[in-house]
Amino acid sequence: MEKRPFVTKEQIEEIVKTYPTPFHLYDEKRLRENCERIKRAFAWNPGYREFFAVKACPNPSIMAILKDYGFGCDCASRAELTFAKAMDLPGDKIMFTSNVTPASEFQYAAKIGAIINFDDISHIDFCEKAIGKLPETVSVRYNPGGSFTINTAIMDNPGEAKYGFTTEQMFEGMRLLKEKGVKHCGIHAFLASNTVTNDYYPTLAGELFELAVKLRDETGMDIPFVNLSGGVGIAYRPDQTPNDIEIIGAKVHEVYDRIFGPAGMTNVAIYTEMGRFVTGPYDLLIGQVLHIKHTHKEFVGLDACCVDLMRPAMYGAYHHVTVLGKEDEPCDHKYDITGSLCESNDRFAIDRMLPGIEVGDYIAIHDAGAHGHSMGSNYNGKLRHAELLLKEDGSVVQIRRAETLADYFKTLDDTEFYKKLDLE
Ligand SMILES: *Cc1c(COP(=O)(O)O)cnc(C)c1O
Repeated sequence: MEKRPFVTKEQIEEIVKTYPTPFHLYDEKRLRENCERIKRAFAWNPGYREFFAVKACPNPSIMAILKDYGFGCDCASRAELTFAKAMDLPGDKIMFTSNVTPASEFQYAAKIGAIINFDDISHIDFCEKAIGKLPETVSVRYNPGGSFTINTAIMDNPGEAKYGFTTEQMFEGMRLLKEKGVKHCGIHAFLASNTVTNDYYPTLAGELFELAVKLRDETGMDIPFVNLSGGVGIAYRPDQTPNDIEIIGAKVHEVYDRIFGPAGMTNVAIYTEMGRFVTGPYDLLIGQVLHIKHTHKEFVGLDACCVDLMRPAMYGAYHHVTVLGKEDEPCDHKYDITGSLCESNDRFAIDRMLPGIEVGDYIAIHDAGAHGHSMGSNYNGKLRHAELLLKEDGSVVQIRRAETLADYFKTLDDTEFYKKLDLE
């Protein structure tokens, strides 16, 4: 599918009069349309709830939009719990899916009434020691090991992942939780990441629903929800077919009726914790070309760098690139699109065929809305850039300012040194 940016060069020229590049630019209209589709896809399940994986895009202005569709938060740290609480979410809309969890974080999660999703059987005792009596409703994370396949294609390798309970531990864990007075225990699994197939959730649902029936039958635990977690991917590449969430929802519905119908478990709620699929496609990282360098390769140097979007440097991930204003020109030049870090892997694209680029051109890097700004760092003294929101009426508001030099240095304890800094 052709990938077109949601803004034109003319719009960017207007925006930079107020907000200089680089910046992340989110698209409210398309984000809302996506949330509506997600909600509709699972409307057949009365208890359905999406817990947005906030690590993907922890910005309150974005979360406020998601809240309009009833979404809660999936959190993995004290800061993410603090964020969810400040969004005025009730405890039953906050999922705490953490791992290697400190006692203080179990305590905070319990204090705000979040649903605690245990990552390991040993955490049950650990948490009880930390918080006293366990809540009536908790959750456990499942990891069947081995590899996760769909129609014999290997999607991922849960057997290598650090997360979750083994199958035996699921049964043992439920019995232990029951002994400790827990009345309801949901089950959760995240077995493959960034899947671009409508079969991931339905296949996972089949495994989890069957397990849920066995767990109820053998341990007597009430299973109030099955959490399909994240893993629904997006089409980063133009040759990929995007997932269709309405088909995914309908297929999960079929599996639900087939397995839960005969088992008499048709009150089970479906939960999801999508991050990437919710916000990923609705943000462009916009940078401007500072330099073009002709050496052993053609290097296009931007004012943005990989601390604004780590995925290409970290995973070699593909992100589509558009030269704004040149959408319809032939892609007959081969470029490496780089940032200014002293790291050779600081490249948004390698050997990418694009139209001829000039200094001053605006470059849009697509699908930056999940694990983009939030994964950034200050390496090399790079300051994180602003986040802007393109509203439905076409206006633009800043929803996070760019960092300043003062921000960069403010955690130093040496106040004499701090005073000597030239921060102008
Ligand atoms: C990262 C994460 C998610 C979201 O994953 P996506 O692939 O972005 O949808 C959901 N749940 C947990 C526990 C996660 O760590």
